[in-house]
Amino acid sequence: MRILIAVDMEGISGVVHWDHVTPGHAEYARFRRLMTHDVNAAIRGVFEAGADEVIVTDGHWDNRNILVEELDPRARLNSGGPSPLSMVQAVDMETSGVMFIGYHARAGTPNAILDHTWSDSRVANLWINGRLTGEIGLNAAVCGHFDVPVVMISGDQSACGEAVELLGAVEVAIVKRATGRLAAECLPPEAAQKKIQEAAARAVSRLRVGQAPSPFRVESPITVTIELVHSEMTDRATLLAGARRLEGKRIEFVAEDTPSAYRLFRAAVALAKG
Ligand SMILES: [Zn+2]
Repeated sequence: MRILIAVDMEGISGVVHWDHVTPGHAEYARFRRLMTHDVNAAIRGVFEAGADEVIVTDGHWDNRNILVEELDPRARLNSGGPSPLSMVQAVDMETSGVMFIGYHARAGTPNAILDHTWSDSRVANLWINGRLTGEIGLNAAVCGHFDVPVVMISGDQSACGEAVELLGAVEVAIVKRATGRLAAECLPPEAAQKKIQEAAARAVSRLRVGQAPSPFRVESPITVTIELVHSEMTDRATLLAGARRLEGKRIEFVAEDTPSAYRLFRAAVALAKG
């Protein structure tokens, strides 16, 4: 049994501000260590429940946050980017299940630490087949293409709630209760990591007995609609082959499957930067 641990940073234990997750900021060094330790807690749970193999993928910012020298030696780490499948790099038909560690709610969610969708400065909203979708849904849909379910998530209560609403009964580890976008009641890492380890173990135990949630599948062809933050970003994103501009700040395109939709979405957001 092979588990992919896909990691973001906004939902890591103790994180409540961009300063905590932005390379170059004085506080960032503390939180990349906490990120690594949240991941190690998940790895302990996964092996404790009997999985054979763990791959970790660093999905935040430039994908170079996790401290490889402090990572559990039983795992392997996908670091750096861009990689073909970005935040879920390494997911394939041989993967048994995916865990989202340190994830955050989609743009516009109230009481959600650092809620955004892919790029806080460029993406106002994303719809997949007309449904508002954040990074949880987008990445889960790519995993679903390979028939792989998301089995666990850690983050604040809003991120965990979004995952359960969209994906079904995934195991959750709520490490903080957000009371705003930049405020939360946080568990200290020792307590948070115990919850992560336990949830990861429960998720693998359910996989072993065939009781994991179903893979998240999106019907093809896939219509992707993106609302950019400023209209000049939309001017640039519209240059993407196959994209057409809707009213105002939105573009839309159609993709044949979720990996293609993911690639085109990433390209549109990259173009928007200028
Ligand atoms: Zn992030």
